[in-house]
Amino acid sequence: MYYIQPHYHGISRTTQDYARMAQAGVVAVAEPSFWAGFDHQYAGSFIDYFRQISEFEPTRAAQYGIRHFCWIAVNPKESENLSLSREVMTAMPSFFDKPTVLGIGEIGLNKNTRNELVIFQEQLELAIKYRQLVLIHTPHLADKRKGTQLTLELLHNLHADPQRVWIDHVEEHTIKAVLDAGYWAGMTLYPTTKMSPSRAADMLEIYGSERLLVNSSADWGPSSPFTLQECAMEYRSRGHSEQELIDVFHNNPARFLGQSSKFDISPIGLSPEPIANSTSARP
Ligand SMILES: [Zn+2]
Repeated sequence: MYYIQPHYHGISRTTQDYARMAQAGVVAVAEPSFWAGFDHQYAGSFIDYFRQISEFEPTRAAQYGIRHFCWIAVNPKESENLSLSREVMTAMPSFFDKPTVLGIGEIGLNKNTRNELVIFQEQLELAIKYRQLVLIHTPHLADKRKGTQLTLELLHNLHADPQRVWIDHVEEHTIKAVLDAGYWAGMTLYPTTKMSPSRAADMLEIYGSERLLVNSSADWGPSSPFTLQECAMEYRSRGHSEQELIDVFHNNPARFLGQSSKFDISPIGLSPEPIANSTSARP
């Protein structure tokens, strides 16, 4: 069975993770822009990061036959800095023409502050203006319900097309509002904290698989790219068919991401040179 990993932070993972994901059936990953553990000081630092995920990272994934796509954005945590965020946003449209950039994300809220909301709205307006897909991060823990409500209100006010918007990190108390409003909902699975593979399987059984995206994130924190397969195995063990698994773990992400004409999962040739030994990774 083939998997699509729709939310994956390759820059914080090893090349061996790509090899193992390929062995586990992953044929494509999509990498959103995120907070790298520290605040960037300069707009140029963001731009180099966008170049890394749109130019370099696809070459690393391709070594193992995995297609790599990305999203660019000022992440919610760093959007507190209005002037820096706006400087970065002026450079973002030049990336929309790149062959693997699918849209704007992850944008949204972290602590639900006024500044975060301002930059969230401006990035949504940019996405609408340039017809980009949208990936939205929702806050953690106590801020999640309020942040999700604010997100839904803002999307409604801007007349965003729900089919082209994915609201990620939903949990039991936020999933229904997201699906009822017509958006795609993402469940981000971690081995120990946040959403677990079995809780995700519960929600697939309760809400069905329509417009649901399961992902591993796999970032620099305690995380694993394989919570995706763990969830699939859990779902399978409950008696769901192979076709149901394919629908959730392959076809759903293909349906959402495939709204961008750039998304392509046809096989790519394997390169004979492992990138770890290459001195000229960038063409
Ligand atoms: Zn992320």
